[in-house]
Amino acid sequence: MRCAIISDVHGNLDALEAVLEDAQGGQGVDQLWCLGDLVGYGPQPNECVALLRERGALCVAGNHDWAATGKMDTADFNPEAMEAALWTGTQLTAEHREYLNALPEQMQAGEESEFTLVHGSPREPVWEYLTHVSVARLNYDYFQTPYCLVGHTHVPLVFQRPTADERPPQYRTVVPVQDRVLTLGENRLIVNPGSVGQPRDGNPQAAYMLYESAAGTGSSGRRTGGTLTLRRVTYPIGSVQEKMRAAGLPQRLILRLTYGW
Ligand code: ZN
Repeated sequence: MRCAIISDVHGNLDALEAVLEDAQGGQGVDQLWCLGDLVGYGPQPNECVALLRERGALCVAGNHDWAATGKMDTADFNPEAMEAALWTGTQLTAEHREYLNALPEQMQAGEESEFTLVHGSPREPVWEYLTHVSVARLNYDYFQTPYCLVGHTHVPLVFQRPTADERPPQYRTVVPVQDRVLTLGENRLIVNPGSVGQPRDGNPQAAYMLYESAAGTGSSGRRTGGTLTLRRVTYPIGSVQEKMRAAGLPQRLILRLTYGW
């Protein structure tokens, strides 16, 4: 099974289309997993929701999805995020609003349900930011699967829990490198594929991950040997910025796409 793992599309249709084209190239993908924040910030929220639904993506809810529909309070949002959420709310069709409102906070995916999908963290699926290993380590008790996929920070990152027999036990953070294959083993992982529509790791290219399953079984009886690969994809940033300008979205949100912050 091959899957594209995407997150934080944020109404950026050009980036989403470029990522889907990249993922469909070569052997294509069997499934599309989406870790929330389909909308908010970007100029084409309806088009992004429509495309993901058309492709049958498995999606969980992000804070921006529920902020745009009014299901969640925007009191914690910065002024630009709030402005974009309000604008997105005025744009969404009734059908897409209903779809976003009904998204689950978490789900399991994979041939043997080896992945938990959430937007923020297993402990607080919609809100918590997993930016540091000290927060990540508190989250392993909150999911049952070997691996958990998260978004929300817009930064590609892998948190690795030590195995039971590792001495001394060490929690590690791995910064994934573009196109370098990461093989899944006995360590439980929390993995962030980065953001499709608003990368914040200093690289403005759209980010996502490819997952390929494997048939091997590790000493714990768990399926191991699958792989994750970070992909970066160029898309027409200027075209998105033009659409954002035309929509009257905040200048700061337009600018940040150029730099990836
Ligand atoms: Zn986001």
